[in-house]
Amino acid sequence: MIEVNGLTKRYGAVTAVRDLTFAVRPGHVTGFLGPNGAGKSTTLRMILGLNRPTAGGATIDGRSFARHRAGLRHVGALLDAGDVHGGRTAAAHLYALARGNGLPRRRVADVLEEVGLAGVARRRIGGFSLGMRQRLGIAAALLGDPPVLLFDEPVNGLDPEGVRWIRGLFRRLAAEGRTVLVSSHLMSEMENTADHLVVIGRGELIAAESLAVFAARG
Ligand code: ADP
Ligand code: ADP
Repeated sequence: MIEVNGLTKRYGAVTAVRDLTFAVRPGHVTGFLGPNGAGKSTTLRMILGLNRPTAGGATIDGRSFARHRAGLRHVGALLDAGDVHGGRTAAAHLYALARGNGLPRRRVADVLEEVGLAGVARRRIGGFSLGMRQRLGIAAALLGDPPVLLFDEPVNGLDPEGVRWIRGLFRRLAAEGRTVLVSSHLMSEMENTADHLVVIGRGELIAAESLAVFAARG
């Protein structure tokens, strides 16, 4: 469960996120919808403790990570798939993350298999397509087997088969009782994927309800 309470972030005169309050429940895929620049990434980074709120806060399963980064056992996140060291192999990248988080090495093979990258584990990330980088980012998010997962624009760069795969993955993670929050700027990506929606615009909450209710209101 993620609880966001009065979350606000100002950059000088710009208010990126304004007084956001919502909850994300376990056992569902919740879509985090809003146009580019709406404040989705800023919100996700604050939930993870990677960005300090100006006011308000967020908790993950009752714990606040406002002052330090959440560990991979608590929450897994796909943030910016481009943000990985291209000189490393996929396996080396994940081994380093596992070591840094005190996770067993065997998790690396498991998550590479899970995301369909087992065959390219020894290849350098620099040669990966955006879709492969997204899969690698998802592997990193799954590494700690966390109860809460955040994915920022995960569909970007995926081919149709990748989109189908990722939808199935999100649904399975939710069916396992995990909390799954997936951001997108496209309503069409949420259909057939999310059952709940948190919608923001210009940093403010527009709606937090089931996708069926939101869609019916038009
Ligand atoms: P989204 O993820 O929905 O595209 P962001 O959270 O990236 O939106 O950005 C929300 C707003 O905050 C935008 O106006 C963006 O320009 C601004 N912003 C984000 N990060 C910074 C920063 N480090 N410094 C100044 N402004 C920022
Ligand atoms: P760095 O070496 O840059 O300090 P790490 O190796 O610890 O970073 O993390 C690698 C990547 O994991 C970064 O892109 C970071 O944004 C991301 N990350 C940080 N915290 C989490 C988290 N709780 N869940 C998932 N990914 C995270």
